[in-house]
Amino acid sequence: MSHHNSTPCSAPNETASGLPPLSIAPARVIRGVRAIEQAGDEIARLGRRPLLVGGDRSLSLVVDRLAPIWQQQPLTWAQATYNPDCSEATLARLKQAVADHQADLIVATGGGKSLDAAKLLAYGCGLPVVTIPSSAATCAAWTALSNIYSDDGAFLYDVGLAKCPDLLVLDYTLIATAPQRTLVAGIGDALAKWYEASVSSGRSEQTLIVAAVQQARVLRDLLLQKSVAALERPGEAVWREVVDATVLLAGAIGGLGGAQCRTVAAHAVHNGLTHLSAAHGTLHGEKVAYGILVQLRLEETICGNQLASAARQQLIEFYAAIGLPSTLADLGLENITLGELHHAAQVACDPKSDIHRLPFAVVPEQLMAAMVSTNAPPENRRGGIDSISRDLGDAAGDDSGDVCSSDSQDRSDLS
Ligand SMILES: [Zn+2]
Repeated sequence: MSHHNSTPCSAPNETASGLPPLSIAPARVIRGVRAIEQAGDEIARLGRRPLLVGGDRSLSLVVDRLAPIWQQQPLTWAQATYNPDCSEATLARLKQAVADHQADLIVATGGGKSLDAAKLLAYGCGLPVVTIPSSAATCAAWTALSNIYSDDGAFLYDVGLAKCPDLLVLDYTLIATAPQRTLVAGIGDALAKWYEASVSSGRSEQTLIVAAVQQARVLRDLLLQKSVAALERPGEAVWREVVDATVLLAGAIGGLGGAQCRTVAAHAVHNGLTHLSAAHGTLHGEKVAYGILVQLRLEETICGNQLASAARQQLIEFYAAIGLPSTLADLGLENITLGELHHAAQVACDPKSDIHRLPFAVVPEQLMAAMVSTNAPPENRRGGIDSISRDLGDAAGDDSGDVCSSDSQDRSDLS
């Protein structure tokens, strides 16, 4: 990777004295077909009175799988749901459930929000936590981060946790029971690592952040190359590799990059959309995938960034092949009012939003324009763009001809 731009990274914390602590990875990862059945001793090492936290679907699936472990060890367990959302009210209720059961361990199952709720619960109670993802929709089973929503599902804020889970049990048998759509969403969420990390941290000179950004590129390439095959062959080797990519590698990148390697516009757009009730039928990763296109569209329309334009066209083709949404209509939002669109854009442009990690200023009106034009034909397309390979699997390119003023990012979206 060539760092031809030596301007210091915009990250405010890049002083040796103020480096934030890292929570890189779970202490242990057990994975495999029927991995739950192999995890009994590891779970029992962490506590004797587990509280199992999950959603209705995930709980019904894992309770039968865990029952022999509870019996064998033996462990005294109770269960609680995270309904209606990963919210402050839910957390208060779950804390009461911990007290009622005198739990000394949290075991969490679910696709994202349930894991976030359980991790934050464990952190708040000072208890160890085991995560058992029931789908590959997010990397929440890995990370030391929880997103908090309102009871109605509107994103409010995120909380950094002191550590990653004590144990992650990646059971392919369980994940294979989840709707295919959850893996598609996980692919969208994982893709964002590259498009966001390369913008927020692409010019960092810090070794671990350089490594995180490069791994985000590797992750994107793996997903572009293997996702179609994985979705055609659920449960098979290529499918397991893509599950590992979305649940494990995406989490590892977040861990390695740490608090300095932040999300940018794609997640900010997601956060804004969660404030529209009409958007609640779609999954986190679906909104984030659409948000990547919005981010690229901003780079294209505000900076005239032709690589962003080409990357957007490439992703639109990829999204169509695997079933990710490219437009508001694809998200079921074709009938939202101008006022709703403006509200979502305002939330996304909140002063504290990560959207302001873009190397240029964005106001809600510009964001709205980008949100309604994610599938527009490339703007002002000329020059060498056509000659650059747009093959989805071609990972050769490394140099950026990026033209976004002096803030050009050292990254290629075409590789
Ligand atoms: Zn995400």
